[in-house]
Amino acid sequence: MNITSVLHSFLKLILVLSLLYTGCSSADETHNTTRLRNQQGEYIYRKYNENSFSLAPPAKNTPKTYPWDKEQSGNYPLITKEFFRCKGSSLNPCHVVQKQTEILHCYDCGGVDKHSLPLRDGKEFIYPILIELLNHIQATTGKRVVITSGHRCPEHNTYNNADKENQYSKHMIGAEVAFYVQGLEDKPETIVNIIQNFYKTNPRYKGKKDYEVFRRYEKQDTNVSTPPWHNKEIFVKLFAKKEGRDFDNRHPYAYISIQVRYDRDLNQNVNYSWDKAFRNYHRW
Ligand SMILES: [Zn+2]
Repeated sequence: MNITSVLHSFLKLILVLSLLYTGCSSADETHNTTRLRNQQGEYIYRKYNENSFSLAPPAKNTPKTYPWDKEQSGNYPLITKEFFRCKGSSLNPCHVVQKQTEILHCYDCGGVDKHSLPLRDGKEFIYPILIELLNHIQATTGKRVVITSGHRCPEHNTYNNADKENQYSKHMIGAEVAFYVQGLEDKPETIVNIIQNFYKTNPRYKGKKDYEVFRRYEKQDTNVSTPPWHNKEIFVKLFAKKEGRDFDNRHPYAYISIQVRYDRDLNQNVNYSWDKAFRNYHRW
């Protein structure tokens, strides 16, 4: 096949294609014109109150209650171990503490996003007596208990207060809580009375003098001006308005701290240990 014949075939192909294209477009145009000419408009009339179906008048729908909605102490939701989660946050700025010979840069932990509560038998654990007492206070007063400091992981504990005495805090092992009661900020003694009455009236402690009777701790080695109270199970401190101001307690109110001294389930004293504080919680 020579070049001339290839050229001829190519020209023929172009001619056929151009004829086809013109033919099609002209047929389309004719078709569209006919369709437009045959179109007819029709008005749709509707009455103003015409509906395809009738609607029932709106009725108020009361949502279903969940089991935990009913679990309240007083007017407020039941306090659980969830309320004790570490209040640390990576958004808190680094702060510098001047010690005698060194300067400490304190960084906060990542908070609940980064670690669990202390663990016992593989489950998150807070001493149940703390939860029970706080719910009792809430139910008795009808006012809200505000937990300012529950569990503190070691990082947050140092960030909170870098003093040497605080380095053995039972907050790290889930055995201490700091709180105040909304509406009773100026009457912390009332709360201490409620705590003592709990032990006098609860049948669990009936006839057990070392639980029913509270003694005062008169030694001068505490950081509070009011002598603390204690029975076999707990140690109660009252921080006056200007005492015990750490990072978690920056509010202007007096507050109370409860420490667990004795574990009724395990029949043993509750003591801080490095192992329980540092190794007994889960990081993620
Ligand atoms: Zn933490």
